[in-house]
This record gives sequence, structure tokens and C-alpha cells, in this order.
Amino acid sequence: MIMTDNSGREALLSALTAAAEVVGSDRARVVWDESAEPAVGGPNMGMFRSRRLWGTLYPSTVEEVQQLVRLFDRTPASIHPYSTGRNWGLGSHESADDDAVALCLSGLDRIREVDIAAGYSIVEPGVTQACLAPRLDGTDRMLNLTASSARTSILGSALDRGVGLRRPRIKDIVGLEVVLPNGELVRVGQWPGGPLTGPAALELFVQSGLGIVTAGVVRLLPRPEAARVVWLSFPSEQLTAAGNTLRRWAHQGLTRSAVRVYDPRAALPYGQDNGHHLVHICIDGTLDTVEALTATVVREAEAAGLDLVVPDKSTAELVEREYTGSPDLDDTLFRAKLGGHRVEDLDEHVGLVFFLPHLPFSGEAFARADAIVDQVRSETGAACGGTFFTLDEDTVLHIVAVRFDRDDTEASRAHGALDRLHELFAQAGFFPSRLDIDHTSRKPGTTPHSATQQFMQQIKHMLDPHGTIASGRYGQTS
Ligand SMILES: Cc1cc2nc3c(=O)[nH]c(=O)nc-3n(C[C@H](O)[C@H](O)[C@H](O)COP(=O)(O)OP(=O)(O)OC[C@H]3O[C@@H](n4cnc5c(N)ncnc54)[C@H](O)[C@@H]3O)c2cc1C
Repeated sequence: MIMTDNSGREALLSALTAAAEVVGSDRARVVWDESAEPAVGGPNMGMFRSRRLWGTLYPSTVEEVQQLVRLFDRTPASIHPYSTGRNWGLGSHESADDDAVALCLSGLDRIREVDIAAGYSIVEPGVTQACLAPRLDGTDRMLNLTASSARTSILGSALDRGVGLRRPRIKDIVGLEVVLPNGELVRVGQWPGGPLTGPAALELFVQSGLGIVTAGVVRLLPRPEAARVVWLSFPSEQLTAAGNTLRRWAHQGLTRSAVRVYDPRAALPYGQDNGHHLVHICIDGTLDTVEALTATVVREAEAAGLDLVVPDKSTAELVEREYTGSPDLDDTLFRAKLGGHRVEDLDEHVGLVFFLPHLPFSGEAFARADAIVDQVRSETGAACGGTFFTLDEDTVLHIVAVRFDRDDTEASRAHGALDRLHELFAQAGFFPSRLDIDHTSRKPGTTPHSATQQFMQQIKHMLDPHGTIASGRYGQTS
């Protein structure tokens, strides 16, 4: 929407000027040019088209967020909130919508409370894994880490249904503090000392475009006394059988964490280059439990024809740390997967898009999904790699990463592969749980239930009648 309506433009420009006063000029990057047209956002790892943007504001308090929301309530631009904007492969910091005002919440970075005995912490959106996890060192609690950079937001990944090594991140969040589209501040879910009754409104603010989250209550998990990650491998022909073996182990409680199965391309950064699939399975508990369960898994693996891998010691240590809540503050393994660049420079130097469908936990589903990725690889020539990442005993997230060199030809090949992945997985009945900025839930074929979308549209209209908050990748228009 390039604005032709003068009163709309004036309202917006005066809101932007007032917004810069609210946060201070050093915390406002207002980007309209002389003709008062929006500029475009910066580079993003996916090389998705950079969206037109009126500016980025960096508030540092909840009150500032409320004031900003009220300022933009009646302007033609809507607000795109993000925490640290490291949503790599899905659009990074970019809005799905053009002509938004971005609200970067990394300046709200207070750990408001840590209660080790009760097992929770209250954090703001700018609190990263690297900030909170070290606060728990030496305690009997740990943070459920993701395999992304230590400098990613705990709330940001949860609000986009990110996945931790112990369980999906959203399961860690029991309460949210939210600025509503009218600027009002509410708390939903379980807040310490708050009511425990009533409907669970928390999920309304997950992938919805209905509010701006300014804090969350994060569960801290009991820290296991001992943990060991067993590395196994198998040739591709055994994928169905291996998938069903892992399913049986998960059903019988041999592991409490995400089991990861990397295809040969995804296995490369872990030092496995023999063309086989690689498995990580974490066993934890007391020292005795770990000894006993490891012996069981090794024996079972041998019987199922899975090979035990002896990994490089330092890589094994880094993988074990991911599972046990102790992030590598240098991002060694994470950066090795992306060519060694500094985390701050990744959007500029790396080309990668993600496709993230859910699958049932079965060897047959693994084989079906693997065959689709193979088909897309051979049809498009794009470098697709897949990792099966279990979410519970019955559900698996298939992380399909498409890497590319950052030039127009390779980006267009990768985007062609992404479109094809959407198409073929939907035909197989497998739909994504997280979307990129080009494949929003309003695009036909990306999500299965149109009645649910209509219901969400009614809620959006009720809570946000002026479209103050951008619809984003998942939201409906007012
Ligand atoms: C090599 C590699 C490995 C990765 N591994 C993992 C992994 O193991 N698990 C995983 O989940 N991801 C992984 N990622 C993807 C991604 O980097 C993480 O999910 C990251 O945490 C998301 O970025 P962020 O925390 O900065 O969230 P943000 O980009 O800040 O937020 C994500 C989205 O959530 C919404 N949002 C965020 N904050 C707010 C708010 N305060 N109010 C309202 N809405 C908000 C917005 O829609 C925003 O676009 C990986 C990426 C790479 C490249």
C-alpha cells in the first residue's frame, strides 16, 4: 500500500515523529524518504523480498510499548513486533506485510524474576538463551535450549512455536503479559499468585497477530543428574525400520528429549560423511539410570542393525550441552553449520530457507517425507537437507533446510524448491507448523482448515478493529 490519501499520510508521519520522541531519537530508525514513501527492510537470510517499512522503533519499557501502540492505532500502518529478529530461514526480522512499522523488543531485556524452588523465571522478549541459562548454572534447574544461536530470544522462539531439545518451547511458557491493540496491558495464563481458573487465553497470542508480548513466565526444567547422548547411524534403505525402532523406544520411555535423525546432508556438520543417516538420542536421569538405559539402547540398536558412532569428542560435548541446558556462548556448532560467520552478519552472508511440516512419528512417514525431499532435490537441483526432530511420542517436526549461495539465480532455485515442498507435502497431508513471510496462512494450500481461519478472523476483528497490529505470517486481516 503506497499511500495516496493525504490525511492518512499526515497521521502516519505525525505518529512516527511522536514515536521517535517516546523512545528517543537514538532508538528510532524512521525511514521514510523525502517523498514520504516507505523504505525497504535490511537483508534477510532467506532472501525473501524485503518488505516496505516505515521505520523500526526500539522501546525499552512496557509503558513505551503501550504508548507506541496507542500512537499507531488510527494510522494506515500496522505494527510488526519481534523480539530479537533471528527467525532465520523464515524471514528473520522482516514483516510479512508491506508498509508496517517494526517494533524491535530486544531492548526489553530484563530477567524480572528467577524462582529456582518453584521452577520458573519471568523474562522479557529481549532475554536470550545466553542471558538466562548461565543464571541457572549450579542449580537443580535448567532452560530448555533450542539448537539455534545462544543469542536468540526465549519468548521469540516460543511465540513462533519454536522447538527446544527437551520439548516444544511453547510448553515452557505458562503465562504471558501482553499489550493489546488498544494499548491495554493484560496478563494471561498462570502468573505467580494469579488465578488458576478460566479458559486458556495464552494460546491466543501465539502465532496470531493479536497482541505484543512484553513478558512471559518460563518454566525451568529439573536438571538431570547425568546425561549421555548416544550417536547411531544407518544406511538410507533402513529408514522405515529405524524410524519404527525409535518410535518404540520413545513410546517405552527410553528418552525424555527430542530424538534427532539427520539425513546424509544434514549429518555433515556433525562429522558424518559416509552417506548414512545419523541419530542423536539423549538419555538422562540419575547416574545409575543413565548407565542402565544406555546399555539397553546400545543392545537394542545392535539388534535393530543400527551402528554405534564414536563422535569427535568436542562435537559430542557441544551436542550434550544443547540437551543439558548449557548453551555454547561462542555458538561454535551453530556457526559451523552456517559457514562460520558472526551471528550479527548471518542475514547478510548466508542463504537459507526452512520448510517445517509436522509428521506422525512412524518409519513410514519418515520414508514418505524423505522421498519428497529427494524428489524436490532432483527436480530443482536445490541443496535440501532434512532432520526429523521428535516433539512427543506421536509427533515429529521435519526440518527441511534449503541452503543456497546469495545470488539471484540460486535464491530463485531455493524459492522454487520451497514452493514445491509446500505443494508436495500438502498433497501427502503434511502441513507446516511455522511459515515464512512468503507463505502466509492466508495463502491457499499452506494450512488445512478454512473454518478455523474464519473464526480467527472474527477474533482479530473484535480485538483489533483498526488493524493496529500487522496480520503477519499467521494472522487474519481485521
Ligand atoms: C542453524 C539453525 C538452527 C536453528 N535451530 C532451531 C531450533 O533448534 N529450534 C527452533 O525453534 N528454531 C531454530 N532455528 C530458527 C530460529 O533461529 C529460532 O527459532 C529463533 O529463536 C527465532 O528468532 P528469535 O528468537 O529472534 O525470534 P523473533 O524473530 O524475535 O520472533 C519470531 C516471531 O515471533 C513473533 N514474535 C516475537 N516476539 C514477539 C512479541 N514480543 N510479541 C508478539 N509477537 C512476537 C513474531 O511473529 C516474530 O516474527 C534455527 C535456525 C538456524 C539457522
